[in-house]
Amino acid sequence: MDLNDTPQQAEYRAKVRSWLEEHKHEAPVLQGEGAIEDEHEAVEAHRAWQRKLAEAGLTGVTWPTEYGGQGLGPLEQVIVNQEISRAGVPGILDAIGVGMLGPTIIAHGTEEQKQRYLAAMLHGDEVWCQLFSEPAAGSDLAGIQSRAKPQDDGSWVLNGQKVWTTNAQFASFGLLLARTDPDVPKHKGLTMFIVPMDAEGVTVRGLRQITGDAEFNEVFFDDVALDPDLVVGPVNGGWGTALTTLMFERLTIGGGGEGMGYRADRFARALASDPAAVRDPEVRKRFGELATDLLALRFTGYRILTALQRGQIPGPEAGMGKVTVVNAAVAAGDLIADVIGPDAFSLDDEWNYLISFLPGLKSAGGTEEILRNTVGERVLGLPPEPRLDKGIPFSELRDKEREAAGASA
Ligand SMILES: Cc1cc2nc3c(=O)[nH]c(=O)nc-3n(C[C@H](O)[C@H](O)[C@H](O)COP(=O)(O)OP(=O)(O)OC[C@H]3O[C@@H](n4cnc5c(N)ncnc54)[C@H](O)[C@@H]3O)c2cc1C
Repeated sequence: MDLNDTPQQAEYRAKVRSWLEEHKHEAPVLQGEGAIEDEHEAVEAHRAWQRKLAEAGLTGVTWPTEYGGQGLGPLEQVIVNQEISRAGVPGILDAIGVGMLGPTIIAHGTEEQKQRYLAAMLHGDEVWCQLFSEPAAGSDLAGIQSRAKPQDDGSWVLNGQKVWTTNAQFASFGLLLARTDPDVPKHKGLTMFIVPMDAEGVTVRGLRQITGDAEFNEVFFDDVALDPDLVVGPVNGGWGTALTTLMFERLTIGGGGEGMGYRADRFARALASDPAAVRDPEVRKRFGELATDLLALRFTGYRILTALQRGQIPGPEAGMGKVTVVNAAVAAGDLIADVIGPDAFSLDDEWNYLISFLPGLKSAGGTEEILRNTVGERVLGLPPEPRLDKGIPFSELRDKEREAAGASA
């Protein structure tokens, strides 16, 4: 039992823990010693594990029961996350689908879409990807240029390019934001679509990262025909639909009370392998700072969960949670690399991955600058930043600022 569990939560935790104890030998090894090397085999083994978790009621914990979920609260979802992390087994393959895109379809999709797509997503039979970011539209998401044109028969034709699309290489469907009316202010002419990834005209190209993995892709669309029943939410109301996805994205990455499983004791164990490092005041200071941040994050996470449990939508604290956990984990990776030296890259695959992958997470789900702007405006009451709300791309504004600085110099 966790110190904060109510008796009902303790009972639920015991049930989850006992299922994981009984079945953890069936989980695939995806990292470290004995990990499955072939990427396709690893995906299939991970998919089979997601199916097992789904059959045991350990995915879609907060989804409504009519769509295969458990109809429970966010605290139960956190308990499942904590117990999966404690058991040392992987979570689900399609965290993006189940965590962010499924909830968007539940909130904005038609009943037919919910019946058609949700159960297969939950069981990992059909994995999904998020087709939002483009080469010239990340933070300024409403500036996307991929274009879907309406046809006389009610269908659409899609052209354009997306980038950084995680899991597109094995996804069955993508949830895509496209411009459907270029003649209105940019937030108003967008529509969300479901895109079958095997449709004619869809090309996926992998991008290899410094970690050695190729989790991201570029995705190209050349005259892709989309049926009318693939529109999610209102035509030209796609910005509102996308905001639902982004809210779930921040919660998935930053919320949840445990900061993606990065607890200070996990890092302390690695550092303790070097007795001299444990006595070094500088190492102790750096570790103390990041451990304090992770502890504060845990309690911020509980505040977020309390808000969710009461049916409220968490405010910018979910974004700050994301900034804090990523920075603390990056600082931990740096500290481990400084103390252990180059061996950190070979000693244990976990540290190698932490050091090389985590800095990239500073961009995912809203960059630090964007999230800090939100906190500045909504929490501290600072004057609003004109760039995104007023439809002026950041790059244009920066050029204008440089021009003005040049003129006054
Ligand atoms: C691990 C990972 C997984 C991802 N997976 C997906 C995915 O599956 N699907 C998907 O669609 N996208 C995905 N992305 C893309 C992600 O959403 C974008 O990287 C993010 O939105 C930032 O956009 P950008 O990379 O274009 O950077 P930009 O928006 O070009 O930003 C560049 C820099 O400028 C700063 N900046 C920009 N605007 C402002 C401003 N107004 N004020 C101050 N500073 C500003 C930023 O903070 C940043 O430092 C993923 C990214 C990562 C790293």
